[in-house]
Amino acid sequence: MKFKKIKQLRKWINFFRINYDFHFPYKLLVDGTFLKACYDRKFEFKEKLTKLMHGQCWVQITTCVLNELRSIPQLKDLFDFAMSLPKLRCNHIEGLTPTECFKDLIQKNNTERYWVMTQDEELREYFNQFYPIPLFWISKDLKFTIEEPNKKCQKEIEKKKHNKYLPSAKELAVIKQVQKEQKEEELKKYFQKMDKIKNEMNIRIKKPAKGPNPLAIQKKKDKIIRKNKDQNKTRNRKTKKIRKRENHLRTKKVVKSNESE
Ligand SMILES: [Zn+2]
Repeated sequence: MKFKKIKQLRKWINFFRINYDFHFPYKLLVDGTFLKACYDRKFEFKEKLTKLMHGQCWVQITTCVLNELRSIPQLKDLFDFAMSLPKLRCNHIEGLTPTECFKDLIQKNNTERYWVMTQDEELREYFNQFYPIPLFWISKDLKFTIEEPNKKCQKEIEKKKHNKYLPSAKELAVIKQVQKEQKEEELKKYFQKMDKIKNEMNIRIKKPAKGPNPLAIQKKKDKIIRKNKDQNKTRNRKTKKIRKRENHLRTKKVVKSNESE
């Protein structure tokens, strides 16, 4: 008998071990159906399990399972073998069927982190609905295997892994604060730059105002020259008039002096 797809087995063993805190020594509950399957095939499941799970495996048998085996005379040899296993006192004084015994011990939360080894398909289906109960069994092709964890467990773990990479509320608050400070710093730099540009613009506008506009100077000069010309003209006209009058008076004086002679 061989393990069925060893990689797949280890994948699901690690899934339970890592995600649901199944720690050493592993506690395995075994029922009569599984024991019989191994005993009939002379399968050393304890050693194989220890090797497979890389650790100490503590295979236990409950009082209720032992009572069931004891009650079947044809299974005396199996009962003797079962008596060699560590016993778990389940405290079911009145005695339960192995199925009821396991359901009561494990319940729905499996707080004790038991691994269950059973050939009872109904029991496996029942446990596989809940959270998280690893189930070992021997397949029809005589290979040791593990039940795939239910989809609910798998989705839950995927979600946890996804959330692991997302920032927590505290980290988000820090990120928002940093982003806010960066934005404020950028705005501050932007306004400083704008102020600098404004100042430079003002300087450029004021500079020409300090000196006169050369075109305006040209016009002013032209105006002055024109004014001076006009003044000169008036002055010349006045001078001519005076001279003319003086000449006239001089001529008149000469004529008078001639007449008196
Ligand atoms: Zn019991």
